Amino acid sequence: MKIIMLGAPGAGKGTQARMISEKYGIPQISTGDIFRANIRNETELGKKAKSYMDQGLLVPDELTLDLVVDRLAQDDCAGGYILDGFPRTIPQAEALTGALKEQNTKIDFAIDVEVPDDNIVQRMSGRRACPKCGATYHIRYNPPQQDGICDGCGAELIQREDDKAETVQKRLTVYHSQTQPLIEYYKEQGCMHSVDGTRTMEEVFGDICALLG
Ligand code: ADP
Ligand code: ADP
Ligand code: ZN
Repeated sequence: MKIIMLGAPGAGKGTQARMISEKYGIPQISTGDIFRANIRNETELGKKAKSYMDQGLLVPDELTLDLVVDRLAQDDCAGGYILDGFPRTIPQAEALTGALKEQNTKIDFAIDVEVPDDNIVQRMSGRRACPKCGATYHIRYNPPQQDGICDGCGAELIQREDDKAETVQKRLTVYHSQTQPLIEYYKEQGCMHSVDGTRTMEEVFGDICALLG
């Protein structure tokens, strides 16, 4: 099963992708996490990506595409995967379709997690992330058992630099202009589904599971 998560920054893509990954036993591939790992490890890619991410802009396609295509070629992706945060532009979607076509396959489900912009800012300001294992929490909606500590791995949680209010506004603008057109693109491919992302995490997950079967 090959799944794409679409939706605004902070809509809950990562949260849902993690739950799907656990239930269906397929890897979650988050380009944001890959970029952040590169920044932490001070790689060349990380240095280049950081300047864009800090401004709330997308990392250019030429830095993103090969990375994803290489990742999808790894053994653990043979039985399917969930892409969380990719594609984010029409050229990325076209490149993905092309790469999959070469293997005679395609995306089975594109899932749009719908959340209005008004709710997004609130979600982002309370988001806390684990820099070690990538788990995400919310200080109100999904708090860790112990304040500021990851339930899964015990690392200290952080607030992402790009989750500040000004950067969030910028990311939303970028989302509407560059990423939202993908909804039309996947509608045309016949695999587009939407879920109401304003409900609780469990309710949203229930809707997604009903869809995936
Ligand atoms: P969010 O969870 O808020 O949607 P992500 O962790 O997916 O954010 O992405 C954080 C940042 O990483 C983005 O704002 C962008 O700069 C960069 N990024 C992630 N995925 C992509 C992509 N597919 N194309 C371009 N830039 C990306
Ligand atoms: P994305 O990957 O789309 O950027 P996240 O999964 O990181 O979004 O979620 C953004 C923030 O909102 C996190 O703090 C997360 O804990 C919280 N969150 C996710 N889903 C819900 C939900 N259904 N209701 C309330 N808060 C949520
Ligand atoms: Zn952790």
